[in-house]
Formats: sequence, structure tokens, C-alpha cells
Amino acid sequence: MDQIMHRLEHCYQLAEQRFARRFERPQVSLALRGQKAGVAYLHRNLLRFNARMYQENRDDFLRQTVPHEAAHLIAHALYGERIRAHGREWQALMTGLFDLPANRCHDYPVPQRRTTRYLYRCGCPDGIPFTAQRHALVRRGRQYQCRRCTNLLHFTGQQLTTD
Ligand SMILES: [Zn+2]
Ligand SMILES: [Zn+2]
Repeated sequence: MDQIMHRLEHCYQLAEQRFARRFERPQVSLALRGQKAGVAYLHRNLLRFNARMYQENRDDFLRQTVPHEAAHLIAHALYGERIRAHGREWQALMTGLFDLPANRCHDYPVPQRRTTRYLYRCGCPDGIPFTAQRHALVRRGRQYQCRRCTNLLHFTGQQLTTD
């Protein structure tokens, strides 16, 4: 978070020098999840960043994503409502002020929600993956019978992680 704030302050100071005016600093949150790296809330002067993507792509995130979102707020402060989000005003801030490519989107991998399954077997050729909840019930003595071969299902010791 410190590094994000530091990078952001740098962007704002560049803008203040260039445009010879003050820009109110935004509130910053790391509470964003999902597919977006960052979102600028123009009317709340708020930036939300994706903490997980930041952790996994720290250098590029600081270099590109933080100025990308800052440029949305600065463009809004300069030009108001009538500009397009990634229009030429925003692009000019990215390339002319921050000396960065005016990329609309990040290419960070989207973090996946990992789930663990527990592989069980009976007499059938294929194993059956159990959820963590079901596996926990077996540990407490519950028994499951295969409907096809009627053998009891037993844990193979194998865990599977799927996205
Ligand atoms: Zn954008
Ligand atoms: Zn079976």
C-alpha cells in the first residue's frame, strides 16, 4: 500500500507541475476483486485496486496500473464529464505526462478461486472427487457407498486442486 501511495503521489506531483494547479488526492482502497486491476470512481475521487493482482504483478502494477487509474481522475478534474474514459485527453496524460503506453487493459492473469477435492475410490475404474465438507464427514465416521458397484468409497490419499 505504501508503494502504491508513493507512486500515486508522484503522478499527482507531475500533473500539478504540468498544469500549474492543485489536484485533490483521492482515497485509495485495495478492496477490489475479480477481473479488473483497478477502478476509478470519478465522483467519489476514489481509486480501488485489486490487492491480489497487485501482489502477483507488483512492478508492472506500480508502473502502469496506478498511473492508468490516476489519469482517469486527473482527466476528470481537468475536463469534466464530456470526455470518454480512454479518449484522447486520458491518452495524452498517459503518454505525454507519465511517459507510458496508453493501454486500456491490463494483461495480468485473473486470479482463480482454487478448490480442493479429495479423491475417493470404490470398485469402479474412475475415482470420485469429494468436497472438503463431505471428506470431513467421512473423517468423522460417515460412510458412503457407490451406487453402481455398491462398495464403500475410501479415500485414496490424493488431493486434487482445480480452478
Ligand atoms: Zn481505464
Ligand atoms: Zn463404484
